Amino acid sequence: MEDRGFYVIESSNKIILSYKPLIETNTLLVGYGIVLAYGDREYILKLGEKLDAKHHYFNETIIPGFIDAHLHMDSLGFELSTINLLEAKNLKELLGMIKGLKPNIGEWIVGGRFDHLVFPEKRPPTRKDLDSIIGEHPVLLSHRSGHMGVVNSKALEIMRKWGIKGKVDYRNGWVYESALWSIRERILKQLGREDKIDLLRKADKYLIDHGVTGAGVAGTTFDLLETLKTMDRGGELRVRTYVYVFIEDPNDIWRVVREAFDTMLNYRRVRVNGVKILLDGALGPRTAYLSSPYSDEPSNHGLLLYDEIFLGKLVESINRYGLQIAIHAIGDAALDIVLKTYNLISGDVVSFRHRIEHASLVRDDQLDVIEELKPILVVQPHFIITDKWILDRVGFERVKWVYRFRDLSEKTILAFSTDAPVEPVNPWRTVYAAITRGVYEGIEHGKLTDYERLELIDALHMYTKGSAYALRDDRLGCLLPGCYADMVKVDKNPLEISDPRELLDIKAEYVELK
Ligand SMILES: [Zn+2]
Repeated sequence: MEDRGFYVIESSNKIILSYKPLIETNTLLVGYGIVLAYGDREYILKLGEKLDAKHHYFNETIIPGFIDAHLHMDSLGFELSTINLLEAKNLKELLGMIKGLKPNIGEWIVGGRFDHLVFPEKRPPTRKDLDSIIGEHPVLLSHRSGHMGVVNSKALEIMRKWGIKGKVDYRNGWVYESALWSIRERILKQLGREDKIDLLRKADKYLIDHGVTGAGVAGTTFDLLETLKTMDRGGELRVRTYVYVFIEDPNDIWRVVREAFDTMLNYRRVRVNGVKILLDGALGPRTAYLSSPYSDEPSNHGLLLYDEIFLGKLVESINRYGLQIAIHAIGDAALDIVLKTYNLISGDVVSFRHRIEHASLVRDDQLDVIEELKPILVVQPHFIITDKWILDRVGFERVKWVYRFRDLSEKTILAFSTDAPVEPVNPWRTVYAAITRGVYEGIEHGKLTDYERLELIDALHMYTKGSAYALRDDRLGCLLPGCYADMVKVDKNPLEISDPRELLDIKAEYVELK
């Protein structure tokens, strides 16, 4: 897809160029995919005439595309390719939905989101149930929680070859958590280049269809990066992607540097920004690393994946190359370690825009350190609505530390994201969560921390310029002269709503210039 030529964009409504400061217009001039000028209609039309520009007229409001600073494109594509089994009312219906199907992901038949708790049988299907309808292809069906799945005998055979570890009930073919996740990972890894591209194509389309025009791909293998590059060379990538590579050992750093240079020089919509590091787990499975134990499991502090000294050395060597660092830290004790580590390179945290992913639990004393160091915090506001169990995990004493976006936004830059497919891609749901904190859904921890609600304009700013800042590309997230002309038309101006729930009905559509 090329962005050749000049265009005059006109809207009878408003064209929002930037949320903070709020700058609006009705007429815009775009050339070769970049916004060139805006403002006075006569002047823009005259310029357009001189440049032989095509004219596009809209009745909708035009906004800058959303920038999702942290998501997983291959897993999103995987999720979108999975057969949705949510509608199955009983075992027979569930089996009927997959009977006779051809493999949908590589050589596998992959389904998801079944819920046996609504079945009269009250049990998930077993390996034997699956074998009775599909013998020749491996099958994997996941429960809607994402924590449990079922496989057939053919799949078990392959899993043995792969050496899948973790909790597996071989008799029933039931697989749990880490075992389930590693099967998915292996299926993804095993795919041929064409199948991988196919998954990314789906993710790209899905993001564009939801008005997301830029994305941080937070945690890729070198192989996934290669797939993104292949797509970009073919002009197939519409979402601008900014990649953070997982490295296996410090020797990989140089390889990341090479990829960063290569993508900067030779690619249009893929850019390697730096390195992603996982420091702890998540609050749901009680693996986020906490300074005091979980309220609902008093012997457990969670999990720390790197010790402080190793992390410090790793971060110093990545930083030396000018690469950007994105460290996943959900628990407050993990955050302590990131802050100490960033303190070792404190002069570069702001200039290289080093990031902390999630920062879900932040103590008061940590706010001061954050204010001093100013790492970018890449947060996922929709967690507030999804994590219904959070009060059980952290208790009433600590609930004030949870997703404290207003406090944090006063200390440093926040970037918005969905961690998709973990949370829904639809940006309006994220904005809605940030400004309501689940008050209409009766979310208890949201009610207890309602002073952390953000203003709508701030949330929109964080989802555009905030994320652009986190992705180290200042042409993203705005429609001012010099910015990428990544425009989205919406059937309702988000700044003119009277009830936040109206946000959820907004339809967004990518503006394709041709
Ligand atoms: Zn993630």
